[in-house]
Amino acid sequence: GALTGAWHQVCELAGTPIKPWVKAAKPLALHESTLVIAVPNDFSRERVAVRHRDWIESTLAGHFGRPIHLAVSVDPSLETDLEDATASPELPLDAPTLGMGAAPVPGASNGDRLNPKYTFENFVIGSSNRFAHAAAVAVAEAPGKSYNPLMIYGPSGLGKTHLLHGIGHYVRQYFPQVRVKYVSTEELTNDFINAISENRTVEFRKTYRDIDVLLIDDIQFLESKIQTQEEFFHTFNTLHNAQKQIVMTSDRPPKALEALEPRLRSRFEWGLLTDIQPPDLETRIAILRKKATSEHLSATPEVLEFIAGKIATNIRELEGALIRVTAFASLNHQPVDMRLAEEVLKDLIPEGVEAQITPPLIMSQTANYFNITVDDLCGPARTHVLVTARQIAMYLCRELTDFSLPAIGRLFGGRDHTTVMHANKKIRQLMAERRTIYNQVTELTNRIKQAASAR
Ligand code: ADP
Ligand code: MG
Repeated sequence: GALTGAWHQVCELAGTPIKPWVKAAKPLALHESTLVIAVPNDFSRERVAVRHRDWIESTLAGHFGRPIHLAVSVDPSLETDLEDATASPELPLDAPTLGMGAAPVPGASNGDRLNPKYTFENFVIGSSNRFAHAAAVAVAEAPGKSYNPLMIYGPSGLGKTHLLHGIGHYVRQYFPQVRVKYVSTEELTNDFINAISENRTVEFRKTYRDIDVLLIDDIQFLESKIQTQEEFFHTFNTLHNAQKQIVMTSDRPPKALEALEPRLRSRFEWGLLTDIQPPDLETRIAILRKKATSEHLSATPEVLEFIAGKIATNIRELEGALIRVTAFASLNHQPVDMRLAEEVLKDLIPEGVEAQITPPLIMSQTANYFNITVDDLCGPARTHVLVTARQIAMYLCRELTDFSLPAIGRLFGGRDHTTVMHANKKIRQLMAERRTIYNQVTELTNRIKQAASAR
């Protein structure tokens, strides 16, 4: 019935490497919002429940029209000759191709740019972000009725985008009739430029004004874009006059956005301004603990404390370190203990260079490292080396910079954001499975950081 139908849809969307596991799984029951399936062994359970949970859950959510939690149980009687499939060493590096820009990432096709992990539930509150969090929740609970606009500012990697998506998720969940639009400023600018060149400004206005909540990320990128500023000024006024909610993030407070039109700058100060600061040690430990639990990464409390002690100013880096440590442990079939953590993090480049890292730097370093050109990285060729290099470069852009998925896709020869998302997942997974990939990513990251700090 409904269950089999839902699971059939999941099977349809599964990529080649995972298909055998998904097909071997058996849907057992749908209880409220939890769908229980059984798989033959722990190994498949790990694959399905950890690595593939996200897209399976969003596929199911699409099927049932509400959030679905996937619970995976093990039923050894389902064991078949699957082991052959699991033993295959040559997993395709890339997703099955549907043309250059269209690596299929199931669940990402709903046009929804919100990262499913960036929810209020997954946000750890500490003294550094308490106020920003409270403001975001207040806005999400009563869009347009409390602080308008709300502007959250602070340096990179401290949770601004996470809070912005959190508002989006919350509003969508509790007020499904409220129309929410999330864009990065870079997308907004692009949309606008395209609209002008294609004579579609009327449509452009409609998409940005016929909404109830507008979430705009990284508004500092409006600086110096005179025409887009002008257009946004009118959009802002229209929405604000109609008591529609506007939420923005920025790496600086409005006062410091010097290349922004004064009338726009002053509007940004109409509502509530709140900053977000680097987390203290306790919060950093709590964030790591939460991350370890949600991603099923096992590490001792001592190790989490050690990592939190090493990385103080950027939560993205903090998570990156945890991922590196656990990937290294998995590669070597070792437990995540202090000795291992110390070894992996011994060459940690001092913090503070993150801001200097840009996608072009990553692309040129990656090209160099693989002995190819940046044009190769952006081009259509799909040889093994190029695909790996391209995916690693995309992964690093995602890990080391603030750039959005669509923005990264555009830099890589106009690829779709789902391709970037896929590359990111793929490399993360391969780092834990293949030593060469782990080593390449680690070494390249170090080179990039060194190049950035030498600037
Ligand atoms: P920003 O937009 O400020 O550069 P992000 O929102 O992209 O930062 O956050 C960087 C990473 O850190 C994301 O993976 C995010 O989920 C995580 N993160 C940031 N703050 C928190 C928090 N308070 N609790 C849990 N995770 C957080
Ligand atoms: Mg951000």
